[in-house]
Amino acid sequence: MTITSINPASGQELKAFPTLSKPEVMERIKAADDAYGKWRKTSYEQRKSILLAFASKLRKRKDEFATLITKEMGKRIEEARSEIEFCAEITEFYANGAESFLADEPMNVEGADAYIQYTPLGVLLGVMPWNFPFYQVVRFATPNIMAGNTILMKHARIVPQCAQAIQDLFDECGLPDGVYTNLFIPTEFVDPIIEDRRVRGVSLTGSEPAGAAVASTAGKNLKRSVLELGGNDAFVVLEDADPEHVLKMAVRGRMVNTGQSCVASKRFIVVEPMAKAFIEGLKKHFSEMKLGDPMDESTDVGPLSSEDAAKDLADKVQKSIDAGATVVLGGDRPDREGAYYHPTILTDITPEMPTYDTELFGPVASVYVVKDEEAAIELANDSSYGLGGSVYTKDVARGRRVAEQIDTGMVFLNQPTNSQAELPFGGIKNSGYGRELSHLGILEFVNKKLIHCG
Ligand code: NAP
Repeated sequence: MTITSINPASGQELKAFPTLSKPEVMERIKAADDAYGKWRKTSYEQRKSILLAFASKLRKRKDEFATLITKEMGKRIEEARSEIEFCAEITEFYANGAESFLADEPMNVEGADAYIQYTPLGVLLGVMPWNFPFYQVVRFATPNIMAGNTILMKHARIVPQCAQAIQDLFDECGLPDGVYTNLFIPTEFVDPIIEDRRVRGVSLTGSEPAGAAVASTAGKNLKRSVLELGGNDAFVVLEDADPEHVLKMAVRGRMVNTGQSCVASKRFIVVEPMAKAFIEGLKKHFSEMKLGDPMDESTDVGPLSSEDAAKDLADKVQKSIDAGATVVLGGDRPDREGAYYHPTILTDITPEMPTYDTELFGPVASVYVVKDEEAAIELANDSSYGLGGSVYTKDVARGRRVAEQIDTGMVFLNQPTNSQAELPFGGIKNSGYGRELSHLGILEFVNKKLIHCG
């Protein structure tokens, strides 16, 4: 069996990689476990020097890696370069910060010297998606490598070249064998890996079904898990927001990665006085966007990640239209080669339509018009998801008040949700559990061990 890399802009097959057999996977688990025995004893300085070299090489070879991303999953080249730059920042953040994030923590208890020591857990499995093929791996792998864990990585099947490039880069930087291991495996190998007694935890970023499958195997085997799943983020526009700024942010929030981001703004909830101008403005901006080759710097909207992704999006939009949604713009695929979908705006959405409570992964904005702030909060919270969200108002105190009432893991004021190395990232409800990035991200897979010296 092979895993094949296909350019979604052209449908052209780029490269194929053979998958591992079960015995080969067992060998990799053993190597990761053996490596853990040694890696956990290395100093922070040793780990840091390898990861700083990794960050530096990411920057030096930014164009090469960005091109790989763009060719393999269709992200616009400018966004692919930013992804690589961000990976270097995250790596440096953990390389430089791990020792203080994991420093012993004295406990305030009478009559004893007690402290918490943060120690690694062992071999971890990462199961990652294609939408940010370098970033997703780096945000899981680098804190855990710094913490002393070792990593087995099952990357998404549509980005094998990126998966291989990350492995090669870690190797080039002198990371010992077995500390980071890419596994080209079919999905059905994930369960036996989680079940293996040497594997101590699993982190999955991806869809709800994949998260539920992995969490249930982890639960049955009493393994720790972190899930970073989908979102249906609300973008709440109040009547005192700056209309021009709102439109700029709406385009940015919805069109990031051609709409294929878990924290892309997906539900635009606009109070009545702003609604008409917002819909007209968004239509104007979306219709001016140039669809094209993601390698071309002048392209605004690239293809989706695969033909399957484009078909799935088209199907969900069509079902919403059939159920009565109004198409303000788009609503179909262009007549051209590649996995493209037109920038689309839907209104008059009702709860039985797919767009109401499922994630549309592509350039489709669902616009809801509501009476007031209270109705906006109620609608924002009427979701199975709870990842991010944003609120637009010139009144910061009001924005904060609204943000505090939105049931998600992250809410941003006057800008769409985004990630930074220093800030925690993660959700609640069907968007998963656990946090990545920030000091919290490095605490997910460590033993918080109490030492009590009475
Ligand atoms: P996906 O289909 O769930 O795939 C994610 C990963 O899980 C892939 O490696 C996939 O392998 C694997 N997988 C799929 N089904 C599995 C199963 N039953 N058991 C074990 N592993 C399984 O998701 P995707 O389409 O790649 O990514 C898009 C989704 O990820 C969206 O819902 C998006 O919102 C979410 N996401 C969330 C975050 C976050 O931080 N919260 C960030 C980015 C993306 P194969 O590729 O081999 O199928």
